Amino acid sequence: MSSSPADLVREFHLAFGLDARSTPTQVSSELAAHRGELLAEEAAEVAEVSVTGPLDKLAHELADVVYVAYGTALVHGIDLDAVIAEIHRSNMTKLGPDGQVVRRADGKVLKGEHYEAPDVSAVLRRQGWRPDGE
Ligand SMILES: [Mg+2]
Repeated sequence: MSSSPADLVREFHLAFGLDARSTPTQVSSELAAHRGELLAEEAAEVAEVSVTGPLDKLAHELADVVYVAYGTALVHGIDLDAVIAEIHRSNMTKLGPDGQVVRRADGKVLKGEHYEAPDVSAVLRRQGWRPDGE
């Protein structure tokens, strides 16, 4: 079996009887809120150990965030790998035409003139998403 996060998390959800959808779907507000709380808890744990560590705890909490994020995507029927690929495609367009990186004083990468925003809606539509009212 593949060891990609998406596959591992799917295995976990199926083994424990958790929701797993294969098409982008609006879920109940209770379930959506529950998933949001789980992710917020894990993000808070990352924040707690980010500065003080130790490094194994930071690694653990970062992995928890990714695991829960993939689980939340699965609950909503979102193929998160495809969304990440779209975010990456967009991020790479931040490079200037000369291949140079434009940075703000604090180091954040700025958007160059060839920047293309990610089109997450198109990615979800290719996965079968039909927004309400369409
Ligand atoms: Mg944790």
